[in-house]
Amino acid sequence: MTHTRIMLLGAPGAGKGTQAALLADKLGIPHISTGDMLRAAVVAETPVGLEAKAVMEAGKLVSDEIVIAIAGERLAEEDAGKGFILDGFPRTLAQAEALEGVLARIGSGLDCCLAFTVDSEEVVQRLLKRAEIEGRADDNEETIRERMRVYDDMTAPLLAHYEKRGLLVEVPGRGTIEEVSEATIGALAGP
Ligand code: ADP
Repeated sequence: MTHTRIMLLGAPGAGKGTQAALLADKLGIPHISTGDMLRAAVVAETPVGLEAKAVMEAGKLVSDEIVIAIAGERLAEEDAGKGFILDGFPRTLAQAEALEGVLARIGSGLDCCLAFTVDSEEVVQRLLKRAEIEGRADDNEETIRERMRVYDDMTAPLLAHYEKRGLLVEVPGRGTIEEVSEATIGALAGP
């Protein structure tokens, strides 16, 4: 059976968001992106959005407390009961532990962690291109480099965390969207 409780890991610009959307569509399960939820909160000027705005624009991480709360609430919704694609969460070891707690309470756990591997200069170039097209507030060169640093310091340790638990599957993030999508589906199907 194909896994349905999936998290995606990878540097900013590794293609997580694109692949998460394609996979969610294919498997008929929700795409849960903390980045998208936080951007929506910023636009709606909710208390969370007001607190997160400057942090996000600087390329830093929003507090574990806020992110764990919004991800936890979303995972408790009914549609996530049959599975989910987590995109951008967890991003710290504390978030990974909190996620384990949330899932244990509903009697489940992650099926797998798909890690997209890409060359860091290539992702910087991809993000600069996206900045021109989408004009995201955090897609300028200085912020992009900060997000890469934050990824290396805070998020990359999750690779070993999931490897130890036997959940890590690496997917080469190079190539076209279609090629990476095929590799992703192949990785989920197992060897
Ligand atoms: P990217 O993967 O391109 O950096 P995201 O859309 O996943 O973009 O996230 C954008 C920003 O939202 C992050 O730089 C961070 O400030 C904030 N954010 C998203 N998810 C988390 C998280 N799990 N923990 C802390 N901050 C987060």
